[in-house]
Amino acid sequence: PKYVYEFAEGSKDQKDLLGGKGANLAEMTNLGLPVPPGFTITTEACRYFLANDAMPDGIDAEVDAKLGALERAMGKRLGQPDDPLLVSVRSGAKFSMPGMMETVLNIGLNDTSVHGLAAQSGDERFAWDSYRRLIQMFGKTVQGIGGDLFDDAFDEVKRQKGVTDDLDLDASDHRKLVELFKRIVAEHTGREFPSDPREQMDLAVRAVFGSWTAPRAVLYRRRERIPVDLGTAVNVCAMVFGNMGMDSGTGVAFTRDPASGRQGVYGDYLQNAQGEDVVAGIRNTVPLAEMQRLDPAGYDELLTIMETLENHYRDLCDIEFTVERGKLWMLQTRVGKRTAAAAFRIADQLVDQGMITLDEAVSRVTGDQLAQLMFPRFAEDAQGHLLGAGMNASPGAAVGTAVFDSETAVARARSGEDVILCRRETDPDDLEGMLSAAGILTNRGGKTSHAAVVARGMGKTCVCGAEELEIDTKNRRLAAPGGEVVEEGDVVSIDGTSGRVYLGEVPVVASPVVRYFEGEIDPAADDTDDLVRAVDRIMRHADSARRLRVRANADNADDAGRARRMGAEGVGLCRTEHMFLGDRRRLVERLVLAETDTEQQEALDRLLPPQRADFHEALAAMDGLPMTVRLLDPPLHEFLPDITELSVRVALAEERGETPEEDRRLLKAVNKLHEQNPMLGLRGVRLGLVVPGLFTLQVRAIAEAAAQLLGEGRNPRPEIMIPLVGTVQELEIVREESTRVLREVGAEYGVELDFPVGTMIELPRAALTAGQIAESAEFFSFGTNDLTQTVWGFSRDDVEASFFSAYLEKGVFGVSPFESLDTEGVGRLIDTAVEEGRATRPDIKLGVCGEHGGDPDSVHFFHRAGLDYVSCSPFRVPVARLEAGRAAA
Ligand code: PEP
Ligand code: MG
Repeated sequence: PKYVYEFAEGSKDQKDLLGGKGANLAEMTNLGLPVPPGFTITTEACRYFLANDAMPDGIDAEVDAKLGALERAMGKRLGQPDDPLLVSVRSGAKFSMPGMMETVLNIGLNDTSVHGLAAQSGDERFAWDSYRRLIQMFGKTVQGIGGDLFDDAFDEVKRQKGVTDDLDLDASDHRKLVELFKRIVAEHTGREFPSDPREQMDLAVRAVFGSWTAPRAVLYRRRERIPVDLGTAVNVCAMVFGNMGMDSGTGVAFTRDPASGRQGVYGDYLQNAQGEDVVAGIRNTVPLAEMQRLDPAGYDELLTIMETLENHYRDLCDIEFTVERGKLWMLQTRVGKRTAAAAFRIADQLVDQGMITLDEAVSRVTGDQLAQLMFPRFAEDAQGHLLGAGMNASPGAAVGTAVFDSETAVARARSGEDVILCRRETDPDDLEGMLSAAGILTNRGGKTSHAAVVARGMGKTCVCGAEELEIDTKNRRLAAPGGEVVEEGDVVSIDGTSGRVYLGEVPVVASPVVRYFEGEIDPAADDTDDLVRAVDRIMRHADSARRLRVRANADNADDAGRARRMGAEGVGLCRTEHMFLGDRRRLVERLVLAETDTEQQEALDRLLPPQRADFHEALAAMDGLPMTVRLLDPPLHEFLPDITELSVRVALAEERGETPEEDRRLLKAVNKLHEQNPMLGLRGVRLGLVVPGLFTLQVRAIAEAAAQLLGEGRNPRPEIMIPLVGTVQELEIVREESTRVLREVGAEYGVELDFPVGTMIELPRAALTAGQIAESAEFFSFGTNDLTQTVWGFSRDDVEASFFSAYLEKGVFGVSPFESLDTEGVGRLIDTAVEEGRATRPDIKLGVCGEHGGDPDSVHFFHRAGLDYVSCSPFRVPVARLEAGRAAA
C-alpha cells in the first residue's frame, strides 16, 4: 500500500486513512487556500508500526520522495545549513483528540542550521528560541524526559537574569538554554541530541505514532467511545512562524459562534506568537475583530477564506492560522464542535441559507443534544457553596429542601415545596418520592443505578454515588467532608450536569425547549427564541421522515398526559406494580395469606375498584391511542414486608409476651416466598399462573374501565401484555383466560371488548421460539432490560455498582449494555424473533419497551430491525422521535 500522501493527493473524505487534520489540509490545499506544503503518513502505517514495533517496508523511500517534493516546493532542504527548511510533525487521528497526542515543531535545527535561520530571518533571538523549543519538545515527547527538568532550567535562567516574562530573554539567554537543554538530553538518554535533521524527523514520526497508546489518549478514547484500533496519521508540514515580529501572529477562528450558533466573527488573535503560546495562556489574546485594525489585509483575506470554507463544508468550521510577516497561512480546519443549542441553530440557519436540506439538518443534530436542551440549568454566572460531588447521572439543575425519605418528599411536595430526595440509594418503593422531588441525590450506586435510570427516564436531575457526602437517613441529615451538616428542611442545590452539590439556593432557569414541547411556547410567535424555532422545524421534519412510531412508558394519567404532549403516539408500557403498593399492600398480604377461596376472593374483590379507577384515569388520558398494559411482573416479595424487619417485629412482640398471630403467619409466608434469585423466580407470567385470580383481577379491572369509558363515549384502546413468557404454553393459558374475561365483562356492560393480547419478549427462550409464541400473541414488545440481563447473565440490579466500572475501564465494552443495546448479542435475538414472529403472523405488531427504547444508538438499531415502534419514558419521547427521524432520513 501507499503510506505517504502529499497534501494535494488527499481529500476531506479520507479521514480514515489520513486522519481529520490530514484530510482537511488536503481539502484546503485543493481548494487553492494558502496551506504550507507537506505530506501525511497514513493511519495504516501507524497501525503497522504499533503492531510490529517497526515501520513498514518501503516507507523510507516514500518519505524520501515526498520530502524531496516538499524541499523543491520550498526551494530549500530540510535543515539546510545556510537556509534551513523546518518542519512540524503533528498527530491527527480520524476523530479529534485535543491535546492527547504529540506534536514536535521546528525539526531541522541543529548547531549549524540555527545560524542559517538567524541569518535568513535577521533575528538571532528568534533562531535560538526556536532551537531551544525544538530540544525541549523533542526531549519531552520523543525521548520521554520529564518536562519539569526543562521548565526548571528555564525558570532558573529567568531568575538569574531577574525577569519573569519569557519575552525578556534575549538571544544569548536562549543560546544558554540550548546548551543547558542539550546537557539534560545527554544526561538522560546517554547520547547527544540528534543533530541529523532527517533522524529528528523519523524519530518524531515514531513518537507521534506511539503516542496513540499514551495513557491519557487511551483514557480519552474510552470516554469518547473512540475505537482503540484506528491509529493516528502524522502530518509533516513546512513550518511557518507567527513569532517573527509584530507583522506576524497566530489565531483561531470559527465561522459561527460555537456556543450560541449565531453568525458573526468569532475567535482570538495573538500578535508575534506561536500557537503553543496561545494554548499555554502565556499571553492574553485579543478578540479576532481586533485583527482588522492590526492587520487589515490579513483580516480580509481570512474572512474570505472562512466564507469559502463554510460554503464548501456547508457547516461551521473552526480554523487555526498563522501570519508570517504579513502572509496568511492556514494550518488547520475542521467541522467544528459546538454546543447543543448551536447545533440546532446552525442547522436551521443553513437550511435558510439554502446550504443544506431539511434531511441534512435532521442529521446534523442528535438526540443527546436535544436531551441536553431539555434539562433546566443553573444560571451561567451562578456561584454557590460547594458541599461535594458525585456522578452526573441525569443532567439539569435542581434546588430544594433536603428530605431523607419518600413519604416526607411526597408530603412536602404536596404542600408546594421543592424537595431534593436524599437517599443512600433508591429502590422501587422510592418511586413516589422521586416523582415528587425536584432532584435526587444518592451516595451509593453508579450512573446506571436505579436512581440514575429512573431519574433520567423522568427527566429529573440526579446526582448519584456522592460517596463523600454521608447520607444518614435515620437521623435525617447529610454530612459533607468540609464539616457542613444539612438537616431535613435545609436548602441544597444539585447540578446533574457536573455532579456538584451545593449548600443553599443556586438560581436555575427552565428550559424553553421543554416549555415548547409542553405547549407553553408558540414557536411561531414573534418573540420566540430562534432556538425553539429551530427545534420545532427540525422535529417536524424528523416526524415526517420517521417510520418508527414512538410511544411512552407511562404508569399513570399524569405521565400519560405528559407523554402525549411530548408527542407520544400511545403508551408502550404501563407497569401495574404501583397499583399494589401503598395502602394496597395490606390487600396483597391478605391475598398471600388467604387460606380459603373465599378469603382470597375477598382480597381480590377489594383490589378491583381502585385498580379500575387507575385504569379509567390512565386510559382516559390516552384516549384514542393504544395503551399496552402489562400484567403484574415483579416478584411477590417486593409487596410484602422485609423479611428481617418482620422477624425482628415478631421476636420483639414475643419477648413482650404477646402472640402476634397475624405477623407470625405473614412471616411464615414471607419465608416461604423468599428466593435466592428473585429476578429468575416467581414473577411475571409465573405469578399469574400460580396465584389464582391475580391476572384475572387485572384483566377485569382493565376491561371494566374500558367498558365504562366506552359508555362515556370515549375510545379506550388497551392492549394486554403478559410479562416474562418463556414458552407459548404459558401465554396460551393466560390468553384464554383474558379473552374469557373480556367477553364476560363485555356482556355485562353490553359492549364489545376486542383488545389485543400479546407478550413481552424478554427471555432468550421467548426470542428463540418466537415463531411458536406468535401463534398466541397479537404483539411482541421486547423487554430489553430483562433480555440483556438474561442474555449476559448480568443481574441488572447489581452489576453496574459492582464491576461495570472495571469492565468499562478494561474496555470489555465501551458502554453498559443496559444503557445502549448490545446489537451483536441481544440484537441478534431480536432479529431472530422479528423474523420468526412475522413468519407466523405477518401482521404482528412489534415494539420495544426496555430502557433502550430511548437510547439514540439503540433507536437506530430498532429502525433497522424493522420494529413498528419504540417506547420510552415521556421525557425521552422527543429524543426518540428525532433519532427515529435521523435513522430514516
Ligand atoms: C424490560 O425488561 O425490558 C422491561 C421493560 O420490563 P421491566 O424493566 O419492568 O422488567
Ligand atoms: Mg422486564
